[in-house]
Amino acid sequence: MASSTIRHVVVVGGGSAGWLTAGLIAAEHRANSPDGLRVTLVESPDVATIGVGEGTWPSMRDTLRRIGVSESDFLRECDAAFKQGSLFARWSSGQDNDYYFHPFSLPQGYGEANLVERWQEAHTGVPFADLASYQPHLCMAGRAPKQAATPEFAAVANYGYHLDAGKFGQFLKKHCLERLGVHYVPDHVLGIESHEDGDIAALRTRHHGLLKGDLFVDCTGMRALLLGQHYGVPFLSQQHVLFNDTALAVQVPYASDDTPIASQTTSTAQRAGWIWDIGLPTRRGVGHVYSSAHTSDEQAERDLRAYLAASGGPQDCPTPRKISFQPGYREHFWHRNCVAVGLSSGFIEPLEASALAMVELSAAMIVDEMPVTRDHMDAVAHRFNDTFRYRWERVIDFLKLHYVLSRREDSAYWLDNRTPKSIPERLQELLSLWRYRAPMRGDFPRIEEVFPTASWQYVLYGMGWRNEAGATRRGDGLLADSYFREAADLTRRMLPALPANRELLAHIRSHGLPRH
Ligand SMILES: Cc1cc2nc3c(=O)[nH]c(=O)nc-3n(C[C@H](O)[C@H](O)[C@H](O)COP(=O)(O)OP(=O)(O)OC[C@H]3O[C@@H](n4cnc5c(N)ncnc54)[C@H](O)[C@@H]3O)c2cc1C
Repeated sequence: MASSTIRHVVVVGGGSAGWLTAGLIAAEHRANSPDGLRVTLVESPDVATIGVGEGTWPSMRDTLRRIGVSESDFLRECDAAFKQGSLFARWSSGQDNDYYFHPFSLPQGYGEANLVERWQEAHTGVPFADLASYQPHLCMAGRAPKQAATPEFAAVANYGYHLDAGKFGQFLKKHCLERLGVHYVPDHVLGIESHEDGDIAALRTRHHGLLKGDLFVDCTGMRALLLGQHYGVPFLSQQHVLFNDTALAVQVPYASDDTPIASQTTSTAQRAGWIWDIGLPTRRGVGHVYSSAHTSDEQAERDLRAYLAASGGPQDCPTPRKISFQPGYREHFWHRNCVAVGLSSGFIEPLEASALAMVELSAAMIVDEMPVTRDHMDAVAHRFNDTFRYRWERVIDFLKLHYVLSRREDSAYWLDNRTPKSIPERLQELLSLWRYRAPMRGDFPRIEEVFPTASWQYVLYGMGWRNEAGATRRGDGLLADSYFREAADLTRRMLPALPANRELLAHIRSHGLPRH
């Protein structure tokens, strides 16, 4: 039988998911003190990490703060920059002038006034996000989200990061080993030893013998060594909803050392997918995500090269790296004394960059609900599974929203994306509710929803959705107008007060940010 008290957590895998999870558990459960939890991370020297995953949400600021790193060190060592949201180009009509923002800041007056109704009534000449938020204007001007005097992790405008995934893993590893008391075993896991009841007793490693533990966290990436291969927990493919299953990724230099660093991820729709464009201080990360059922690898590469040529990329673009994936997630995530975090629990195309946010949410829930005994664990597992099944479903609905509202007709890909059988029933129901009213908080009633209602509004109206007349309830148009004026006023004041991204990052490189 497994020991009754949970004392030793073993994390398998040293990608972003493994180090973030080990770091959070170690920091919050005092792994560096004798009466804290013991945390061990085992990582195979033979299996590389996925090496992509460059866009984060604002939640990463809290995660890094909880782990106890310095933001200045993080920015310098991970070649990181600030991300204030996403810009979607050519998603709706496919034309040159077709774009909208999904900023990280909530609309001014969010929850206080019916902004959408007033926008539709009086201001549709301006995109909804541009009217309700100052942030699209900061992004268009390439502004940083804070000043040199703003303390670490504090924001003037809400922000997450763009980062180098490889450097991020190394940075977290160093912090976990030097500061947080995580034990490190560089070794390949060959097999699993079980207790009679089916719990995992130990991992069989190539050079370090048996590695015993009480709770095992599967962060082995798409292999899902423990949850998938050992326990056989089914994988629920979502390819019938979200078709993309392949990515071609490249890293390209800037045209010159002073090329501005973009404040947002730009996602430009293509004939059979879309291209991400992420600006780091020293290079861009660009990738084409597409459906292999709708285009060939050769055509996808030609489209990627055409995008690079048109957007200031180098003449001789490096050969892209191809990554194949099956979109979907596990039927459940916590099974017996094993919980999966990261790609082992599932992966859906990186539109809206939700994967690392799901890692953070998973690690935070494990930390907050850390079972005290083995008996206690089943109830925690049940809640964890319920919470994350709900979250995966919301992620899928939200990503699908970007496709179902498109008016593009230039390829089978866009038409197939709008066939009713590819649209989850939950999303269809929401869309029929939203025919006559804007998304509201009650539509997403859980605490810590993955996407706030504001995000649904930004995408819905950014894609050109309009509510039909018919609502008889009166909105307060004057109040909404006062918030729109507030957004415009903030824009006027912030634009001259905030430095350009490159300027602030150069300052941080030499002087750092003030610490609290
Ligand atoms: C094309 C693409 C773009 C993406 N873009 C984004 C983005 O913009 N934003 C975002 O949030 N996410 C993004 N993601 C997802 C993101 O990359 C991952 O969620 C994140 O990197 C976490 O990966 P991981 O740690 O789960 O897996 P991996 O990085 O694959 O790590 C797996 C680890 O398991 C270890 N391992 C495997 N087998 C064994 C074994 N037998 N014994 C011991 N160790 C073993 C490996 O050595 C490795 O250390 C993207 C993913 C893809 C595919």
